[in-house]
Amino acid sequence: MTEEVFRSKAVRKVLSLYEPIWALEYSMSMLYWDLNTYMPPGAAEERGVARAKLVALKQKLLLSPEFREAFRVAEKEEGLNVYERGVLRVLKREIEKYERIPRELLEEEARVTTEARKKWEEAKGKGDFRLFRDDLARVVDVERRKAECLLKEGMAGLYDALLDLYEEGLTARDVDRLFSELTGPLISLFRKVLDAGYFPSKHPLEEEAYDPEAMKYANLLVLEKLGYDFNRGRLDVSAHPFTTNMGLDDVRITTWYQGNDFRRSLGAAVHEFGHALYELQIDRRLARTPVGEGVSLGVHESQSRFWENIVWRTRAFAEHFTPLLRPFLPFLRRYSTNDVYRYFCIVRPEYIRVEADEIHYPLHVVLRYEIERGLIEGSVSVDEVPQLWNEKMEKYIGLTPPNDRLGCLQDVHWSAGYIGYFPTYVIGSVLAAQIARSLEKELGSIEELVREGRFAPIREWLREKVHRWGSALPPKELVREATGEDLTARYFLEYIEAKYARCC
Ligand code: MG
Repeated sequence: MTEEVFRSKAVRKVLSLYEPIWALEYSMSMLYWDLNTYMPPGAAEERGVARAKLVALKQKLLLSPEFREAFRVAEKEEGLNVYERGVLRVLKREIEKYERIPRELLEEEARVTTEARKKWEEAKGKGDFRLFRDDLARVVDVERRKAECLLKEGMAGLYDALLDLYEEGLTARDVDRLFSELTGPLISLFRKVLDAGYFPSKHPLEEEAYDPEAMKYANLLVLEKLGYDFNRGRLDVSAHPFTTNMGLDDVRITTWYQGNDFRRSLGAAVHEFGHALYELQIDRRLARTPVGEGVSLGVHESQSRFWENIVWRTRAFAEHFTPLLRPFLPFLRRYSTNDVYRYFCIVRPEYIRVEADEIHYPLHVVLRYEIERGLIEGSVSVDEVPQLWNEKMEKYIGLTPPNDRLGCLQDVHWSAGYIGYFPTYVIGSVLAAQIARSLEKELGSIEELVREGRFAPIREWLREKVHRWGSALPPKELVREATGEDLTARYFLEYIEAKYARCC
């Protein structure tokens, strides 16, 4: 089936050797999904061993003389098409990662982060950063040494090497530019919106209790209307909502049920749907190849944010879906569609990033970025983290956390070694708005389409412009291909001003 796009014999040889590696990744995704949904708690340790063995096996296959020889031959080929070049680009990154980072360092990282993760949980539970301090210092040290191994020509510093792991080609300079454009306007927009009071900071719908079983059917109904393919996907429950792609024919999502405040359950389902749709709409000819999945965290998050912010958090969505949701959520009979819209768009300062509204969300990331970049570059010491966090929270969000649990201990990322990851969340929001602008140039107002429940044209546009490529194009090229320009904060700012300031 892959023959149509992969013509080079040398690349086809690489792809046939890649199939067992693909199968290992498929299995690891399945294990990860199970781990977060149905695995009995006592299985954790054994599962960890199984996973580590599979990772080692993957590394062995990728670095085997046979595979590397086939790769070297393919690299010398000329006149390769965009998909073939994509395969080699993605594999080169994978192989280089394993070649450049010594096995001992990878093992040390696994050890240090496993320990740190445990300590972080304990410290978070007690709200005391001091319990986590030494582990964070070890993580920063390991990640800094990892960055030294990955540092390449054209990178300005160690932090660039870490960013590139999560968002290919992204540099601290790109992030600085983006964040400096966003910060001032978002802080002033936030004040304006709070003063105007149209978008409430508290809404009675937050207190309305629902039946989780009925809520599940409400989520299923919305997902069905948006166009989630239940023949190749399913909706389950987990502690934190997530999406897993096994292959192109099995892409699963989860949500959560708190029993009240139904926007949390529905919003998560819509967000994860965006991630899933990306995977499900990749060109089928790329199945079982290294380019048969989403290209980067930032581009992936743009797809989830698109559906969450630009489709779901709209008056049009509330108008279309509120009547359909009333049979499942009877309390909605007491609320107008406008109430529901304002409830979806509550604006208020929050301590916790994942609870933040659209305006605040990027500011939460800016403060993490400034701290973690400082840690890697050596301008911030581990001991300074809690104090610095609180100062920046006051500066950007206007709140000082009463304890470290609501402050610098809230996110799992640093304990897991994910330094350089946070900026991809903002790329998601910003790129979603940029993509929406391009889509509207061709299809007209998204709100109009949503109001009429016409989601197929939106899905089709995203498939054609973004999804079908898989990882064949690197992120920056994909953005240019889909929107005609480089990533810019402009459309996000225009979008968010228009949405929140027009009611002030
Ligand atoms: Mg996401």
